[in-house]
Amino acid sequence: MPAPSTRIATLTGDGDDGWSLFYRARAMIAAGEEVLELTIGEHDVRTAPDILDEMHRAARAGHTGYAAVPGMAALRRAVAARLSASHGRAYGPENVLITPGGQAALFAAHHAACDEGDRALLIDPYYATYPGTIRAVGAVPVPVAARSEDGFQPDLTALAAAAPGARSLLINSPNNPTGAVYSEASLAGIAAIAEAHDLWVISDEVYDSQVWAGRHIPTASVPGMAARTLTVGSLSKSHAMTGSRLGWLAGPAEVIAHLVTLATHTTYGVPGYIQEAGLYALGLGPEAEAAVAAPFLRRRAILLDRIAGHPRLRAVPPDGAMYVMLDIRATGLSGAAFAAGLLDAERVAVMPGESFGRAAAGHLRVALTLPDDRFAEAVDRLVRYADGL
Ligand code: PMP
Repeated sequence: MPAPSTRIATLTGDGDDGWSLFYRARAMIAAGEEVLELTIGEHDVRTAPDILDEMHRAARAGHTGYAAVPGMAALRRAVAARLSASHGRAYGPENVLITPGGQAALFAAHHAACDEGDRALLIDPYYATYPGTIRAVGAVPVPVAARSEDGFQPDLTALAAAAPGARSLLINSPNNPTGAVYSEASLAGIAAIAEAHDLWVISDEVYDSQVWAGRHIPTASVPGMAARTLTVGSLSKSHAMTGSRLGWLAGPAEVIAHLVTLATHTTYGVPGYIQEAGLYALGLGPEAEAAVAAPFLRRRAILLDRIAGHPRLRAVPPDGAMYVMLDIRATGLSGAAFAAGLLDAERVAVMPGESFGRAAAGHLRVALTLPDDRFAEAVDRLVRYADGL
């Protein structure tokens, strides 16, 4: 076999093997063991039947051929309308590229922002795919640590120090894995740094329908930011449509036009019947998104109640998204050691913080993704394990 390209062979390989816990839990489940799994960010409910009916209807009506590569005009308009409403400024279909999920939008955005060898900043802790996505376009990921003690708001001093010479900054609010929702002050600071160093800001807002405290501020709505922001969105989290692979990238029309060319040469668009279902889903309005989000708020409360006042478990205030970060440093264990022990002793799987970057060491990410009663049981087992240490 000829050698694979260096780029593909070095896509991952941070040396951080936190995901081994996830694979071990999955292997236990496959072997018939009962494991309470609070690992990946996937709802415990499936896509709503009416959305699937629309998908089926569209497919039966013949929308099974090649769809428009940038996305169906009606869907681009619907996404533009959703953005216009939340950003308080006008978006048109020319500002929107429909992508196979937010993940493909993240890849496209970095392709648009970075040349080979450019430094691309990201905030640590980060969604696990981020460094690989940046490497996939030939750029160099530069993590900038945020601190648990600051509720994982970005460290503006560290960011300003890392910014000279960088090309882009990737942020994510509401945040996976931390649940942080960036404050007005954080976003103002980010805007000032981006302007001073002429950075693209790639703003991953796929959790914008899951905000429990405070307010989600879209980055492109911050004065001066629309011209340098590429906003990533998705129906995966808002409509429990993870498997449909439907998302978007929004930004200045010139960049979107370039990325239509990229899509022509890579994905060639998203299936039409999926797009029709997405159009229908967006048409259900914010109430439908709130209904999908509601269980996570309940489980957040279950977790916070059960660990309140615990001497060695501290929740980092989770203002949004479907996760809670637990600071377990007072136990003296690493996130990986705690998660491994918990899985063995109590058959509960959570993600070690270390899977999401160095800044999350000594933490666990608990996904709020089991029905309430089983979730409560999982939390009780986690507390019992901590008590027994
Ligand atoms: N960004 C973040 C922060 C995520 O957590 C995820 C999925 N877990 C994605 C992007 C990608 O989502 P999708 O491709 O399903 O839209």
